[in-house]
Amino acid sequence: MKKFDYLIVGSGLFGATFAYRATKSGKKCLVIDKRPQLGGNVYCEKIEGINVHKYGAHIFHTSNKYVWDFVNSFVEFNRYTNSPIANYKGKLYNLPFNMNTFYQMWGVTTPAEAKAKIEEQKAEALAALNGREPTNLEEQALVLVGKDIFEKLIKEYTEKQWGRDCKNLPAFIINRLPVRMAFDNNYFNDKYQGIPIGGYNKLIEGLLEGVDCKMETDFFKEYKDSWRNDAEKLVYSGAIDEYFDYKYGKLDWRSVYFKTNILDCSNYQGNAVVNYTSRDYSYTRIIEHKHFEMFGSAVYDCPKTVVSEEYPVEYKEGMEPYYPVNNEKNNALADKYRLLALQEKNVIFGGRLGLYQYFDMAPIIEYVLNMKM
Ligand code: FAD
Repeated sequence: MKKFDYLIVGSGLFGATFAYRATKSGKKCLVIDKRPQLGGNVYCEKIEGINVHKYGAHIFHTSNKYVWDFVNSFVEFNRYTNSPIANYKGKLYNLPFNMNTFYQMWGVTTPAEAKAKIEEQKAEALAALNGREPTNLEEQALVLVGKDIFEKLIKEYTEKQWGRDCKNLPAFIINRLPVRMAFDNNYFNDKYQGIPIGGYNKLIEGLLEGVDCKMETDFFKEYKDSWRNDAEKLVYSGAIDEYFDYKYGKLDWRSVYFKTNILDCSNYQGNAVVNYTSRDYSYTRIIEHKHFEMFGSAVYDCPKTVVSEEYPVEYKEGMEPYYPVNNEKNNALADKYRLLALQEKNVIFGGRLGLYQYFDMAPIIEYVLNMKM
């Protein structure tokens, strides 16, 4: 008889939700993580009484009531509504593109006026294409929203994100650019959104309550060769190419460098998320973490604030792999690894690293809730 039914590699939302479900159904689990803390990318570090999203700002949103009720059974979520601001050369615009943005951009005050302006600019872009299809992101965006929105709110921001000119990025990256003909700054269309009151760590603690966990434990150093002695099955949410020792080569990732500062003021930018859409600043966004969980006078009851500038970077050894680069080359390579994964006996691959696929938090939880145990 082995010590564990499951050895679970990774304590992010994939691993933690899996551990919760397995434990509930009477299985014995050991969760390991190479980081010094649990929670994967949703981990929050408390600084000056503020929950700082150490691995990037995380806003929970879903239309799935089952998932919403599930997460709220561990921790209550607040009413945070994501409504980012864009700063283009000192002028502010509301996001997502909506009537407030169009008023700020052109002074139009009705949906009909805004529509006419966008249609006029889209027509110019279509005429320039002369009947051919858009071949790159720049042409695609111009056809979808016209030149003013593209130049002030998309072009330089996207180029900073990807480290490449929009003319050299594929058109498929943006299939749709929704414009909202209402004065509505709510970024997400989902029915439910919010931040766990007290931070994401409470959600992770709830999921992992009563589960054996070991931190600072790298699967490859401590368990790769021996796990079958201790556990019936392996649940692996680390990087899929690393599992196979990069046999076919390395998958590409985009990473982000966060420069976090504690400031001696209560309210730095008045909003959790401000996007810097011009090249004048090399960061793409500044996150002011307290606005995720403090509202009204509570912002001023806390005398300091913590802000993180986000600098997108090409992934290199030693960095955090954040976003899969789903181009043709990487998709083909990932498919080869996925084929190998299917042949691994008693190993379940999952999560963003294990599947080489970007997932928001709610879909990753939904994925695990739908898995057969
Ligand atoms: P992770 O959270 O990455 O967990 C994987 C864990 O595996 C890590 O803790 C890692 O240390 C561990 N691990 C890896 N290799 C090993 C090994 N060899 N040995 C031991 N442990 C190992 N989603 C939203 O819904 N809203 C958002 O606003 C949002 N913002 C995001 C911002 C950023 C910058 C990023 C990158 C993602 C964002 N997401 C957001 C997505 C969200 O982070 C993911 O859905 C979620 O983290 C996926 O969980 P996971 O368990 O698959 O991966």
